[in-house]
Amino acid sequence: MNPNLISRLAPSPTGALHLGNIRTFMWAWLSIRSQGGTMLMRIEDLETPRVKPGVAEKMLDDLRWLGFDWDGEIVVQTQRRNYFAEIFESLKSQNALYPCVCTRSDMLAAAQGAPNEGDHELRYPGTCRTRSELEMRDRSAHSDRAPAWRLKTSLREIEFDDLLSGKHRINPHAEVGDFIVARGPDNPAYQLAVVADDIASHVTEVVRGDDLIPSTARQLLLYQLLNAAPPRYGHVPLLIGPDGKRLAKRHGDARIASFRNQGIRPERIIGTLARWSGLIDESDAKLSDLISVWSWQKLNRERVILTPAKLSEIDS
Ligand code: GLU
Repeated sequence: MNPNLISRLAPSPTGALHLGNIRTFMWAWLSIRSQGGTMLMRIEDLETPRVKPGVAEKMLDDLRWLGFDWDGEIVVQTQRRNYFAEIFESLKSQNALYPCVCTRSDMLAAAQGAPNEGDHELRYPGTCRTRSELEMRDRSAHSDRAPAWRLKTSLREIEFDDLLSGKHRINPHAEVGDFIVARGPDNPAYQLAVVADDIASHVTEVVRGDDLIPSTARQLLLYQLLNAAPPRYGHVPLLIGPDGKRLAKRHGDARIASFRNQGIRPERIIGTLARWSGLIDESDAKLSDLISVWSWQKLNRERVILTPAKLSEIDS
């Protein structure tokens, strides 16, 4: 038992939980529980326009039904704005940030010269880093939006050793340039909010989808600036549609709530996901029974393609 090993589940309440979310959460939960560690729960509800009322409660209910549990109080990000403002000030006082008044069309125009894409994002060429104060003031006066705050990046590779896929070397400056960390002191963007909260909760292990690998390098830059020890990272290959894209409605109904409504048992869902992951041969298992068979070495390294035939394995 080692309660000082701390992980977290961090759902964003923007839509119903589906098989893809659960597969990732399963790995996170099994990894920490097999080490006798602590699992925290954090609701990542800062992206307010996309957050829907009641979704967080529904997610927690589905998770409990599937056999997940967690320790301590649930952290809700929108209740932590004062803390985020402190972290923002600490970065700002180090001169690590600058305000950006570029519009989306400015960015597109600037990007045409250097079509450098990382993770389907446009690389920000740093326009506002060198914009004159006069021009900044003039642009702010003519805009109804508050400036975004970007982190100054430099041409330096960030390295980390993933629990599943081993060494990664990523250069955020080359991939995305100076990236947005906040839209105001108490309004952090995803990259900063995650790091700030993981530091506050003493998180030592982060297990999440492999679509966030490029973000890990950005977050490690923030750990350095905030003088905090980063966690270990494990990135779970995503469950994707036959078109190679992130799981979405058009790929069929993979929502946990729908399986529940059809009377499918939680053991069937957990067992099938564990079989697809290479953990067991059968399709029925209780989540807690998988702790003893869990190991990172057993897991498939490939993304799982959710074809209609595969989806129907859950209720066959
Ligand atoms: N809330 C994020 C998501 O649902 C997870 C972020 C993280 O684990 O760092 O994708």
